[in-house]
Amino acid sequence: MTPCSPAKAEENLLLGLADMVDGTLKLRYAPMAYRSVFRAVVRRDRLQCAWCGTPGSTIDHLVPVSRGGQSRLDNCVVACRSCNHSRNNRLPSAFAHATGMTPRHELLRWFLQHEERLVEEAEEALMKRPVSHCRSKEEAAVWAQAHRGQALAVPPALDEPLVTRLKGDLRVNHELYLP
Ligand SMILES: [Zn+2]
Repeated sequence: MTPCSPAKAEENLLLGLADMVDGTLKLRYAPMAYRSVFRAVVRRDRLQCAWCGTPGSTIDHLVPVSRGGQSRLDNCVVACRSCNHSRNNRLPSAFAHATGMTPRHELLRWFLQHEERLVEEAEEALMKRPVSHCRSKEEAAVWAQAHRGQALAVPPALDEPLVTRLKGDLRVNHELYLP
């Protein structure tokens, strides 16, 4: 359990991100779940930047968190600090276009061919999923922003495996990249 300032606690409660139970603030999302995704992505990508191939140690969300992208194995690749920082919140296609880079990672190359649909799906999914599916503070902040004033109308926690079953042609990547 980590301490939380009263102001932060109040903010979390107001945003629908937490409940107060017996004087303890219980978060409705799972900020530490991000760690296991991080480990799985690093294991799969062997610390090699998906963009330039140099050693990397950061996680790059293909659909940005700000657009509803989740910390999941099928939405994350390893990136070096330089690529991750210069891409910032841009979509992968915009970054590839601006830099003229041909990504090395097969998942990233596949993503670029389906980007528009995947971003749309992520934005729709953000509006439908419960806050308990958020795996980091950043995801929870985006969720709260998108669900302003209607947090309690969102259905309660559902059991969702960490890596959801993928559909259609993504299954190919799913099999290739599972650690
Ligand atoms: Zn790089």
